[in-house]
Amino acid sequence: MAEKYLNYIAGEWRPAISGEWFENRNPANWDEIIGLFPKSGKQDVDLAVKAAREAFKVWRLVPAPERGAILKRAGDIMVERKEEIARNMTREMGKVLTETLGDTQEGIDTFYYAAVEGRRLFSHTAPSEMPCKMNLSFRIPIGVAGLITPWNFPMAIPCWKSLPALVCGNSVVFKPASDTPLTATTLVEILLEAGIPPGVINIVHGGGGAVGTSIVDHPDINLISFTGSSMVGKQINSKAGAQLKRVSLELGGKNAQVVMDDGDLDLALEGVLWGAFGTTGQRCTATSRLILHEAIHDKFIDMLLKAVEGLKVGDGLKPENTVGPVVNKGQVETVQSYVDIGKSEGANMICGGHQLTDGDHAKGWFYAPTVFTGVTQGMRIFKEEIFGPVLSVIKVKDFDEAVRVHNDCIYGLSSSIYTRDVNKAMVAIRDFEAGITYVNGPTIGAECHMPFGGVKETGNGHREGGWPVYEFYSEIKTVYIDYSGKLQRAQIDNY
Ligand code: NAD
Repeated sequence: MAEKYLNYIAGEWRPAISGEWFENRNPANWDEIIGLFPKSGKQDVDLAVKAAREAFKVWRLVPAPERGAILKRAGDIMVERKEEIARNMTREMGKVLTETLGDTQEGIDTFYYAAVEGRRLFSHTAPSEMPCKMNLSFRIPIGVAGLITPWNFPMAIPCWKSLPALVCGNSVVFKPASDTPLTATTLVEILLEAGIPPGVINIVHGGGGAVGTSIVDHPDINLISFTGSSMVGKQINSKAGAQLKRVSLELGGKNAQVVMDDGDLDLALEGVLWGAFGTTGQRCTATSRLILHEAIHDKFIDMLLKAVEGLKVGDGLKPENTVGPVVNKGQVETVQSYVDIGKSEGANMICGGHQLTDGDHAKGWFYAPTVFTGVTQGMRIFKEEIFGPVLSVIKVKDFDEAVRVHNDCIYGLSSSIYTRDVNKAMVAIRDFEAGITYVNGPTIGAECHMPFGGVKETGNGHREGGWPVYEFYSEIKTVYIDYSGKLQRAQIDNY
C-alpha cells in the first residue's frame, strides 16, 4: 500500500475533507507510486485561509530579523536533506539528479537570501517641506498570500514565493502542482521544523480546478503569486483583478539562442544542448528556438546533430543518463502533436520525433530529443510553447534579421546571444524583447538574488528573485511625524 501524505492546515497534518486521494507516480517508471496525496477542494481551502488569517495577526508582529532567523535555520535543515530531496524530486518529476540537486540548491540559496532580507526590507526616508517634521516610509505585510506553483521547479519556485512572503510577515496558503506534491510537502516540513508557527504556512494539495480556483476566488486572500501557463495565468489575472488582489504572474516562454558567425561554436553548442534538452526541455526558460547565422548554419547543424545523438535518455537517477522523462502522458501527447504539426508545416526533422518505448524506456514517458531545421516564422513550432525536448532552428542572413526573428514572439522571458563582437552583444542586450538576456551563455541559469521574469505574455511586470520580489510581498506605509507643536499645512504654509 502506498504511503499517504497529508495537507497541513491550521497547525495540523490532515486528509482532505472529501476523504479522497490522488496518486503521484514516477514518470520514469509508472509502476512506482511515490505516494497518495489528499484530493482537496474548496472546504479545505476555506479552513486554510481561516487559519492563515488568524495566524497573520501574530506573525505580522514578529520582528522581521526573527522571521529571517527561522528561515536561516530552515536553510540549514535543507542543506542536511539536500540529497534526499533531490532523489525524491527526480522520482516524482523525472529530471536528472544533477538538476534536482541544483533545484534544491536554488531553494537553499533563496532561504539564505531571504534570511538576510529580514534585516533589510529597506525603505526610503526623505526631507520634509516643513521644519520640525519627519517623513519616512516602511514596508508592512499585506495579509494572506495564495501561492500556486508548477511542477518543473518543485523546490526552487515554491521557495521563490513562500520565503519572501514569510519574511515580509505574510501568512501563506500554498497549492503545489499535483505532479510534485512530495517536494512541496518536504518544504513545509522543513519550515515547521525550523520554527514557523502553526497556521502561518498551510499546504493544500489537489487540482488546479478545485484548489487553485478556490484560492484565487477567496475574498480573504490578499495576493496571488502564480507560475504556470499563460492560459491559466490570464484566467487568474481577470478573476483576482476583479477583486483588486495584487497578482504576480510568471508564465510561458519561447526562448531563443542566437549564434552569430563570429560566435564560439563549441561554447554555443554546449549552451544549446543544456538550454534545449536540460529538464527535457520543460523549463520556462528552455531554448526552444535556435537562430543561426547563415555562414555557420550548416556546420553548426552537423555539430548539433552529432551531439544530440550522444544524449542519453533514461531514468534520471542513473548517472549515465543526461535527459530524463517528460513529466506525464499528457505532456508526451502534447510534444508528439507539435512534432506532427512541425512535419505537416514542412519543417525538416533531422532527429528524434518519437516516444521511446524500448528496454529501460518501456515504463516511462521518454521522448527522443528532436530537432527541426528549415523552420520559418509563420510556423506554429516557431511560435508556440511546446514544453518538451523539441528545438526549432531558423536560419538568418545577418544580425538585424536575427534580432527581428528573435522578437517575433508573443513571449519574452529569456534570450541568449553567442558573439565575440561586443557591439552586437550590447545591441542585443538593448533590443531583445525579453526579461533576461545572456551573453555567451544559454537561455537558462537564473541566480536567486537577481530579478527573474519576462515581458509580453510571459507575465504582468512583476519579478521573482532578487530585491523586487520583497516589494511585491509588502505594502508601503508612509509616515509623517510633526514635532513643531503647531498645525503645519503642506503646500500652503511653506510658500
Ligand atoms: P499550469 O498552468 O497547468 O499549472 C500551474 C499551476 O496552476 C498548477 O499548480 C495547477 O494545478 C494550477 N492551476 C491549473 N489550473 C488552474 C486554475 N484554473 N486556477 C488556479 N490554478 C490552476 O502549468 P504547468 O503545466 O504546471 O507548468 C508549465 C507552464 O508553466 C509552462 O507554460 C511554463 O512556461 C510555465 N512556467 C513559467 C515559469 C516562469 O517563471 N515564467 C516557470 C516555470 C514554469
